[in-house]
Amino acid sequence: MAKHVVADLREKCGTPASLLRDVASEIADEMGAGLEKEGGSKVKMLLSYVDKLPTGREEGLFYGLDLGGTNFRVLRVQLGGNEKHVVNRESREVTIPPHLMSGSYSELFGFIASELAKFVADEERCTNSTNGKKRELGFTFSFPVKQRSVASGTLVKWTKAFAIDDAVGEDVVAELQMAMEKQGLDMHVAALINDAVGTLAGARYYDKDVVAGVIFGTGTNAAYVEKANAIPKWEGELPNSGDMVINMEWGNFYSSRLPITEYDQELDRESLNPGEQIYEKLMSGMYLGEIVRRVLLEISLRSSIFSNIDHTKLRTHFLLRTPHISAMHHDETPDLKIVAEKLEENLAITNTSLETRKLIVEICDIVARRAARLAAAGLAGILKKLGRDCTAQKQRSVIAIDGGLFGHYTKFRECLESTLGELLGEEASKSIAVKHADDGSGIGAALIAASQSQYRNVE
Ligand code: ADP
Ligand code: MG
Repeated sequence: MAKHVVADLREKCGTPASLLRDVASEIADEMGAGLEKEGGSKVKMLLSYVDKLPTGREEGLFYGLDLGGTNFRVLRVQLGGNEKHVVNRESREVTIPPHLMSGSYSELFGFIASELAKFVADEERCTNSTNGKKRELGFTFSFPVKQRSVASGTLVKWTKAFAIDDAVGEDVVAELQMAMEKQGLDMHVAALINDAVGTLAGARYYDKDVVAGVIFGTGTNAAYVEKANAIPKWEGELPNSGDMVINMEWGNFYSSRLPITEYDQELDRESLNPGEQIYEKLMSGMYLGEIVRRVLLEISLRSSIFSNIDHTKLRTHFLLRTPHISAMHHDETPDLKIVAEKLEENLAITNTSLETRKLIVEICDIVARRAARLAAAGLAGILKKLGRDCTAQKQRSVIAIDGGLFGHYTKFRECLESTLGELLGEEASKSIAVKHADDGSGIGAALIAASQSQYRNVE
């Protein structure tokens, strides 16, 4: 019986290359539709108002603040200009108390501002280079935001584990600025971006061939550089650079071709945002462990392989996390000791046979492989939209990727990279590189703040 459940899962999660190529084409088409007009696609294709990316020549002291999903990070960078790049950087990571994810906006931002104030307070010990200028900050806020300028925008909706009612429709920067003032922090928010834009900026600072930034963390998203004159919905003056960074919000992509199972449907129905972020729910860190938990529960109810266990834990949503399935999936001990440990620690499942443990590794493999292959289709879709997916063009293109899932889940990452090669073909793959941009998103915010700085030298 258990084997049947797994065989059925394997079949329904199938992602043959032909399906992935169709998904990539659909993503490319949806990108076009989203650029055409507001609401033209489920993929929102939001304008970031970032029309200049960092060049490597920026100088001075800048702050970054990164609020993504599980943690937030404050950081400070000292930029030395041409060739010297980042001469000094310090950062601090703080876990967001879960109750603040569904409390009030002012409480959440009050907490963030107070942590930032503490971090700024140690500045004097490390550096003395504000030179009487107001400190400048880039804010990475990784939720869908409708921007009005590079440093203002309103929250469209929450995603991931956040649900604060009074925040939707409010200006994110005004709210942060207010919270900082309450802390007596004299700091100017020079840019509001998200983690995908930040990753793009952080990688572009070192390599001008970077065309896109992609996140596989708690959630997933992508940003890329588009020609401003190829954005019909753009109404302002065309930027001097001719370029505009687009925040795709690709987590909300949907296609009837996506291999969606009953487990995914139920997960979606019971989620904080039913019907939304379907692509994200198939492939980001918040959900992979939860999908596996649902499969294990089904197996336990329909077979006796876990013997007479108490189902309380196995029924608890989000108790099995993606790092747990990653640990089980990478277990190389001959008797799958780590699988046994994770089952016991997290789900109170004990005394499993080796055969059962192998079956569980297989479930992790099916779920992670589907995620990685769909992720690769997304990258192929962006390259297709840019006309960089074919053998005819030889221009080097780099996609910078960040996020805890990509950074820690080796099998996910390897499968993503090999699938991209499979989709592009050997010849086209030669000019495409995938680069792990470690903590690009926080530093990217500081770098964009630098490139937008009110004090920057007119070049
Ligand atoms: P965020 O998306 O919150 O900004 P990260 O990019 O650090 O944060 O990603 C955190 C996510 O990465 C976690 O929610 C988790 O799903 C995933 N993750 C973290 N560690 C691991 C791991 N060892 N194996 C697999 N996934 C991991
Ligand atoms: Mg992040």
